[in-house]
Amino acid sequence: MSNFYLDNPDILHHLQHMDLEQVIRLKEQDFAQHGVYAHAPQDLPDALDNYHRVLEIVGQIAGDFVAPRADAVDREGARFEDGAVHYAQGTKEALERLAQADLMGFTLPREYGGINMPKTVYSMAIEMISRADASLMNLFGLQEIADTICKFGSREQKERYLPRFCSGETSGAMALTEPDAGSDLQSISLRADQNEDGGWVLNGVKRFITNGCADVSLVMARSEPGISGGRGVSLFIYERDEHMRIRRIEDKLGIHGSPTCELQFQDAPAELLGERKKGLVKYTMSLMNGARLGVAAQAVGVAEAALREAKGYARQRVQFGQSIDRFLPVTEMLAEMQVSIQAGRSLLYETSRLVDIKEGLEELAERDPEQAKSRKDALKRYTRYSALFTPLVKAYTSEVVNDICDMAIQIHGGTGYTKDFPVERLYRDARITNIYEGTTQLQVVAAIGGIMTGTFFDWLDVLEQDTDLSSLPAQLEGARECRKACEAAVAQIKERADSRFQEFHARRLVDMAAETGMAYLLVRDALHLDHKRDAAELFVSRAVRRVHSRREAICAQNQVWFDKAQTLLG
Ligand SMILES: Cc1cc2nc3c(=O)[nH]c(=O)nc-3n(C[C@H](O)[C@H](O)[C@H](O)COP(=O)(O)OP(=O)(O)OC[C@H]3O[C@@H](n4cnc5c(N)ncnc54)[C@H](O)[C@@H]3O)c2cc1C
Repeated sequence: MSNFYLDNPDILHHLQHMDLEQVIRLKEQDFAQHGVYAHAPQDLPDALDNYHRVLEIVGQIAGDFVAPRADAVDREGARFEDGAVHYAQGTKEALERLAQADLMGFTLPREYGGINMPKTVYSMAIEMISRADASLMNLFGLQEIADTICKFGSREQKERYLPRFCSGETSGAMALTEPDAGSDLQSISLRADQNEDGGWVLNGVKRFITNGCADVSLVMARSEPGISGGRGVSLFIYERDEHMRIRRIEDKLGIHGSPTCELQFQDAPAELLGERKKGLVKYTMSLMNGARLGVAAQAVGVAEAALREAKGYARQRVQFGQSIDRFLPVTEMLAEMQVSIQAGRSLLYETSRLVDIKEGLEELAERDPEQAKSRKDALKRYTRYSALFTPLVKAYTSEVVNDICDMAIQIHGGTGYTKDFPVERLYRDARITNIYEGTTQLQVVAAIGGIMTGTFFDWLDVLEQDTDLSSLPAQLEGARECRKACEAAVAQIKERADSRFQEFHARRLVDMAAETGMAYLLVRDALHLDHKRDAAELFVSRAVRRVHSRREAICAQNQVWFDKAQTLLG
């Protein structure tokens, strides 16, 4: 028996010690639903207990049911036969099991059959599912489609679609990417034309669509013939029929259980979601930000799996008369992995908490504008935090999981390069996380503004005001040193007043901010969690080193790479 929640003290302790009061009050509308719905909690401890029980179920399914099938799913993969997509047997069984456990409407309101969990708990669940099988997470995580319909759809659309998603009867897909429009989504060309009767039809091709065989897809299309760029784009709900043909599925490096489809739409009837022209700037951005958080959780889950595999192997593999985990170079790799995962997890849950508060305040503004008035400034602040931290955590975790899987293979030596152990699959599965939902380079583009304009430093101020970190003076000093280095780098970039210089150093600055933020978070976590003290000390000392080296690169007189990189390539 294996439970991926109960065997992970780090997740358990986060749930116990995180400050979730605001999140819970907003999500539960101050417990107004207690007595109306069977499982609606009556107070804060009841809500936390509820989260704990749900996570225990997810952990049990992940550990006992999904993980044992992951290897077979990887070998069998999703198949494309006679124009139809077929999931691997293990994927089918796992989806049925998740639906039976009522987990397919994870964040959706109870009135539609959902279980009304906050994003923070959803991130924990995604992490555990991904630890078991990263490819299954792609299908489980597509609950974001229902979430987007819930946020922006009409009452009638919500009633029509959401109960089907919650029961697991309906699966979703998000169809944004096209052959000539990947990172640059505003250049999509799939057309939406309006009929005389007001209905819409879609024509064109979408590429790389995860679960493109879904019953319901959100399709981004160009609806305004005279308007180029993002303003000419709307988002449509498309219910699968004979007007969409799956041309093929991709033969991929990893996540074999997740079908990646190329779709041809031919006069396919669709309905508008929300308002015209807001398809990219509002709805898709919201959808993608939710999915980015999901990918960050996926990355942490895969990293956790790789660490456990590497630790287990290192303990039992004997060379030179002793188990290899006693050799310091191996010990160091394992420690590096563990510290990076704990840091990434802290950043993931903090980001999820910020997003939960932002979304709760948005929902309050819709439901009760009068009560929301006094919280307008808070909504603005949490909107800025979410816009910064979502790409920040996606960038960090998706890069670090690749390093972690690389180290896991290294620790396995030659067997790591074979299919005899799961690390080979984990290494392949990890590789997609820093590509989809926007590559790391695009996360940097999204995050840099929040660092340059001070949102990041504002969040650090609030963290220090709200929490007394002084009982860990050495670690706090290190975290503050990192902050100073970030401030110096921002000042240098501003002084140069050259957008190319900022673009060139943006990745370095985003990495500095991520490490600084995690240094503070680990110091904060270490106040409650003893097992975090060592992690905090190790992480902070490494962060200081790394942050300084990046600051030096940004502030150096000699900018030879900036000056010469382009000339070198001709
Ligand atoms: C397995 C898989 C599943 C996917 N699932 C979905 C899905 O469900 N729905 C969907 O709509 N899409 C999906 N995608 C598409 C995915 O989101 C895109 O592949 C990704 O956003 C990158 O786009 P691209 O492949 O066109 O690369 P490009 O945009 O061509 O980028 C190529 C390189 O150029 C860099 N680059 C581009 N622009 C910039 C810039 N401004 N600054 C710096 N560097 C830049 C990129 O970082 C990258 O290194 C999926 C892709 C894969 C492989």
